[in-house]
Amino acid sequence: MSDAAAGSQARTLDGKAVAQSIRDEVARGVVELRERTGVAPGLTVVLVGQNPASQVYVRNKEKAAAEVGMRSEVVRLPTNVSEGDLLARIDSLNADPQVHGILVQLPLPGGIDEHRVIEWLDPAKDVDGFHPVNVGRLSIGLPGLAPCTPAGIIELLRRYDIPLRGRHAVVVGRSNIVGKPMAQMLLREHCTVTICHSRTQDLDAVCALADVLVVAAGKAGLIGGRAIRPGAVVVDVGMHSLTEESEVRRIFGDDPRRLKTLLDKGSALAGDVVQVEARERAAWLTPVPGGVGPLTIALLLRNALDAARTALR
Ligand code: NAP
Repeated sequence: MSDAAAGSQARTLDGKAVAQSIRDEVARGVVELRERTGVAPGLTVVLVGQNPASQVYVRNKEKAAAEVGMRSEVVRLPTNVSEGDLLARIDSLNADPQVHGILVQLPLPGGIDEHRVIEWLDPAKDVDGFHPVNVGRLSIGLPGLAPCTPAGIIELLRRYDIPLRGRHAVVVGRSNIVGKPMAQMLLREHCTVTICHSRTQDLDAVCALADVLVVAAGKAGLIGGRAIRPGAVVVDVGMHSLTEESEVRRIFGDDPRRLKTLLDKGSALAGDVVQVEARERAAWLTPVPGGVGPLTIALLLRNALDAARTALR
């Protein structure tokens, strides 16, 4: 990326709009599959316990699946369900030919081994892309179901014609659901990839080398202007609900819309990037909200469609 964008305002990578086009494409794919096979893709979400955030996520996923014409179902299990009962439930979903995609909403209550549960899923139905078979397939470049958030980011960059080949991509975060698969996917796109984490020394200096900077650290406003190379492409994965006006001002400056949201709702969403500073330096930037968030659910739907297509081939 050139330095030409220095001094001008970053352009927005509109995740919400891209997510809507993906959802429209999936809806058309569902119609096509149904016409060809007589079967609609079926997505089942397993929700254990009463975690309020998980309940909201699950409701949104169920609604989104229904909107694109899929059969969506939520299996609700009590907090005290035993691991054995949960695995037995997954066995029956694995065996059910009407269920093409299964997603176990994380986190699971303490006492249940998340890795064991994920490994129990049929990899062909693992629409989150977390099963070791799918992780391995991504790592060695074979087709498979890939994690939705990083896959959504690649789709976003692709649809904005952001060049990746030969660029230096820096990923902040090494989680199994975002950072690591993001790095794999950027490598697959021929980026030179650096992965940062909580022990990285002089994070700002490493980030400032990035042509493409993806921040998934889970720390509100971790990345400020100093860490952004002029003209870089910045993707802000973080998702935080801020309740302090000083924090909202630190990340968004005096943006009246944000301050009004805080006043009206008692909280305002923010990411890992100091947006007011990033706008001044980056060439392209994802907003929060309306950036990465909507893409995750769109890619989940696409994974469910892909899983159904594979099963019905
Ligand atoms: P996570 O599992 O907590 O991982 C955070 C990663 O960031 C870890 O690898 C950690 O390093 C690293 N990190 C933490 N503090 C750091 C620091 N000060 N400097 C450098 N690296 C640091 O989080 P996650 O699940 O990947 O999610 C990251 C963020 O993305 C969260 O805010 C989450 O809510 C958001 N998210 C959004 C979406 C969406 O759809 N928009 C989807 C998924 C996640 P260590 O490995 O050394 O601990």
